[in-house]
Amino acid sequence: MLNAVSDSLLSLFYPQNCHICKNSVENRANGVACEACWKNTHIFSDKDVICGKCCAFLPESKHTTEAYCRQCDEHVYDSVRAVGVYELALAASIVHLKTTPFAVEKLRFLLNKAFLASPFLNTDLIVPVPLSSKRLLERGFNQAGLIAGSLSKYTGIALDEYSLVRTIHTPMHRAAMDKKAREMTVKNAFEVKRPKLMAGRNILLIDDILTSGSTASHCAKALKKSGASKVNVLTLARAA
Ligand SMILES: [Zn+2]
Ligand SMILES: [Zn+2]
Repeated sequence: MLNAVSDSLLSLFYPQNCHICKNSVENRANGVACEACWKNTHIFSDKDVICGKCCAFLPESKHTTEAYCRQCDEHVYDSVRAVGVYELALAASIVHLKTTPFAVEKLRFLLNKAFLASPFLNTDLIVPVPLSSKRLLERGFNQAGLIAGSLSKYTGIALDEYSLVRTIHTPMHRAAMDKKAREMTVKNAFEVKRPKLMAGRNILLIDDILTSGSTASHCAKALKKSGASKVNVLTLARAA
């Protein structure tokens, strides 16, 4: 009740239009997208066929629930799960998350739910994909650290935001690079400052979006070099 009142009061002062369809957002918890746009966003369920390793969405697969895309065979992480496909409400929320250091209730709820449905319940350490110190200074916060912190709070699993670091600064325009150029910018970009803290641990790496998977793979490589026994990945969105 109070929430509904404060929502309508808030919309008087801060009318929020859906970043996708421009209709007004009915519920503050939904962030930058309206109810209808959230409904149209593909959130993964156990009925979807995904690559059992990298979580690529395989709508054409003849398998029932799990298959392997084979593009990720050389990736070093063990397994990836994602909240949903990088589109509509999920995409708009992730873009917004890079400018606002606050994860709305809907994102936190979906991430917690994806974790509970994942095979990663025996995680003993949560580690966000780091930004370079230059990027962290520009942005002021790490959006992956933000959602990792929220999941750590929800699950009670320890969070380590400081041991895995990105030593090489990559330019902003990664989207414009081809696969090979992107691969070059993340190769050897990650380092573990306190390897003792990683040794023997079952690590869950958190990122906002997974595209080629090569960033996650290079993080996993650094973590495993430090003795991590497993590195799984949980991300908000899986891009094609
Ligand atoms: Zn909308
Ligand atoms: Zn795959």
